[in-house]
Amino acid sequence: MEKRELGKTGLKVSALGFGASPLGNVFGDVPLSDSIASVRRALDLGINFFDTSPYYGGTVSEKVLGECFKAIGVPRDQIIVSTKCGRYVEGFDFSAERVTRSIDESLTRLGLDYVDILQCHDIEFVSLDQIVNETIPALQKIKETGKARFIGITGLPLDVYTYVLDRVPPGSVDVILSYCHFGINDSTLVDLIPYLKSKGVGVISASPLAMGLLTDSGPPAWHPASDELKSACKLAAEHCRKKGKKITKIAMQYCLSNKDISTVLVGMNSSTQENVAAILELSSNGIDKELLDELENILEPVKNQTWPSGIQQS
Ligand code: NAD
Repeated sequence: MEKRELGKTGLKVSALGFGASPLGNVFGDVPLSDSIASVRRALDLGINFFDTSPYYGGTVSEKVLGECFKAIGVPRDQIIVSTKCGRYVEGFDFSAERVTRSIDESLTRLGLDYVDILQCHDIEFVSLDQIVNETIPALQKIKETGKARFIGITGLPLDVYTYVLDRVPPGSVDVILSYCHFGINDSTLVDLIPYLKSKGVGVISASPLAMGLLTDSGPPAWHPASDELKSACKLAAEHCRKKGKKITKIAMQYCLSNKDISTVLVGMNSSTQENVAAILELSSNGIDKELLDELENILEPVKNQTWPSGIQQS
């Protein structure tokens, strides 16, 4: 599996990263034995980057991921682990006190002494000035203790990144995690990459399957996309099916082909093998350009359509 530099962190992350939200039963119940098998398979296939959050499954994802690492006995220096803070099933709390407590809780659940990356989870739901003035400074202190090596921010609207990065001291945010903005239906993240590079910030892109929109089974009931976007993605999936092809494969390959994106996080369970096969095939055969053109045509009416998230910032 190809490894890519993550911004200026010195971390070399696998091009495909393991999104651990499914381990929190976010997309349906996953027995522990399946989770262990999935993490083991990912490691065997060269995946070294694992992303979780206390929010996923109300701490279940972190706990299960920790149990998987323990059961497999993974050497700590062979994995890069990212978790988050500030978003919980009980609600948002980005206060310095809460995030400082949060990292200790996460480390206990994960069974680790430190995480490689600690990210503010979905910052568009709170005042961004709090993130700049209170949360990031608190995370810097956590970094000094060694409990987190690097700091990141996550969110859906892309303008939250420029707001924060323009206001914090240079080097105080190491990575951003964007989701649903780099895929066949929405590629708006690309426009932000030169800015992020100028700030020395590493780019993680999540949800290449647009949280289920670009799958045969379709999105979960809670998916926030408009009916128009859901219908267009369904048409795209049907088009692939009719041609005997898989929309998930080309959707993954599309995301993996941009090397400015250090790692693509996909929600993994039983599909790990298939997703890794997609990246291997990409390096040997390239992307199916004809199918990609056809899908881009089908998705043209909804290109870059997104959905509201968070509070309006003043
Ligand atoms: P996704 O688009 O990667 O996947 C959606 C669903 O498709 C999941 O149920 C997944 O198990 C399934 N899937 C994966 N590969 C498949 C395949 N080959 N065939 C069929 N189905 C397949 O979306 P996601 O799971 O929401 O995101 C991936 C990860 O990114 C998350 O687990 C999380 O770690 C991270 N993420 C973070 C944020 C944030 O921080 N705000 C937001 C979204 C995602």
